[in-house]
Amino acid sequence: MTEERLSFQAEVSRLLDIVAHSLYSEKEVFLRELVSNASDACDRLRYAALTQPELSADDPNLKVRLLADKEARTLTVADNGIGMNREDLVENLGTIARSGTAAFMRSLKEAETGGDGRKEVSLIGQFGVGFYSAFMVADRVTVLTRKAGESQGWRWESDGKGEFTVSEAADLPRGTRIVLHLREGDDEYLEEYRLGAIVRKYSDHIAIPILFGEGDDAKALNSASALWTRSKSEITAEQYKEFYHHVGHAFDEPWLTLHWRAEGALEYTNLLFVPSTKPFDLFDPKRAHRVKLYVKRVFITDAAEGLIPPYLRFLRGVVDSEDLPLNISREMLQHNPMLAKIRAGITRRVLSELNKKAKDTENAAEYQAFWENFGAVLKEGLYEDYEHRDELLKLLRFRTTAGDGLVSLEEYVGRMKEGQEAIFTISGDDVDSLLRSPQLEGFKAKGVEVLLLTDPVDEFWVPSVGQYQGKPFKSVTRGGADLGKIQGGEEKPEEKEAAKGELSDLLALLKLTLQDAVKDVRPSERLTDSAVCLVADENDMDMHLERLLKQHRQ
Ligand code: ADP
Ligand code: MG
Repeated sequence: MTEERLSFQAEVSRLLDIVAHSLYSEKEVFLRELVSNASDACDRLRYAALTQPELSADDPNLKVRLLADKEARTLTVADNGIGMNREDLVENLGTIARSGTAAFMRSLKEAETGGDGRKEVSLIGQFGVGFYSAFMVADRVTVLTRKAGESQGWRWESDGKGEFTVSEAADLPRGTRIVLHLREGDDEYLEEYRLGAIVRKYSDHIAIPILFGEGDDAKALNSASALWTRSKSEITAEQYKEFYHHVGHAFDEPWLTLHWRAEGALEYTNLLFVPSTKPFDLFDPKRAHRVKLYVKRVFITDAAEGLIPPYLRFLRGVVDSEDLPLNISREMLQHNPMLAKIRAGITRRVLSELNKKAKDTENAAEYQAFWENFGAVLKEGLYEDYEHRDELLKLLRFRTTAGDGLVSLEEYVGRMKEGQEAIFTISGDDVDSLLRSPQLEGFKAKGVEVLLLTDPVDEFWVPSVGQYQGKPFKSVTRGGADLGKIQGGEEKPEEKEAAKGELSDLLALLKLTLQDAVKDVRPSERLTDSAVCLVADENDMDMHLERLLKQHRQ
């Protein structure tokens, strides 16, 4: 039998080096990672078996087993899930293709500390480095695996030092066995009570049984019921968090946890989370969500297009439907009218929960944190989801010329000046440079508040929404932004008339000199200190948008 020797991708070698040398105090998380993988593998087999029942027919009860061999000093994590063939092994256990590990490597780059290693170690705990965390407790790892529907089994082995081997293996059952040859001093991971405690701490939410030992009478270390099917009162905050980490491949605290069951024409259970930090791919052009769809406890897909509107793509968690057909293909899902109804139900609920948070002024910092992370994403809904526009408008928050805090549209309109008929805005890349704009001088002098718009998406929703409570949005960089009617500041009509006379010669000279570079030169009340500023004509494109589009060569 031939054995192939292959090298890890350079990044994996670097990762393994860090993992092996970390004296990380919470290295027990290796078990969480391996059990999580085993459970994912069972989910994938269960889904594949919906259309190909023969894949799991000979061994249909999916489970994970922990096997401790005290003499050999090995701990084995075995599952009868989907398994891996040669290509899968090389791709999955030789490169960094997966979310958690990739996130770890990215933050490692950001946190380059000059090599004392302390930062690196704390990051491992935060992210969990997936399969590779096995090397925290093992100096050699053997993987024996056979893919469902294939007859050839495979053996993968590595000491975590740059290389691994792959060879054929005969007579393997379906699924994957990860054999950990434990490091000196790590014998605690052979003890049932220790393993049981770790499983209950991190993996109790796993929906399939995690058994200790071989045989039919082995007892489950976990509750083995899907977390979202349990009643809220039986679930601790810690269990919700562990589930969020597992299902969302996330590492932070959930900012909001929503667990409810929709009953009526359609029945479905939802356990959804809003993260407390920004996922790195939030602005990926695909705008895909990552909420997992289950039908009657069977995992279907984590890419059900149409389940979650793109402007709520920061949500994580599961939706479990009682009504969708189990044998629905991922392709057919999109066109199923039930999916649209579920989406509508979820959208309504999530927006109303966000609104509760937004209205909770006693904990304003909490909503502010959410807004900083996801406000720019929510705004996409203003021009995409007409039906929920009013709800979304309530959630908007702005920086303004009035101070540091965030301001809602309702507050802005509530303190508009007498005679002010529009909601004034100014757009640009950042708050600080906007605050220095000469176009704001007149507004400041009259005490008129201006919204500071710094998200690119503002250029799309503002024209699409047009007005709020009958007050049109008006950019202060446009000719039509008229301050004349607004009360406040000092008004001296005689001076104005006199100034106009003196100005007309200057205006004529400027027009002559600038010629085609500008459309017009006009006297303005919007300046108090600066001599001139640029504005767009009332019906022309806003200046900031014009600049944005130029950057994109449109
Ligand atoms: P992640 O779980 O985030 O994908 P891991 O490093 O934990 O990253 O695992 C890498 C990949 O290896 C998995 O995505 C999966 O394809 C494969 N894998 C790991 N363990 C198993 C297993 N027990 N059965 C089948 N595939 C597995
Ligand atoms: Mg994993």
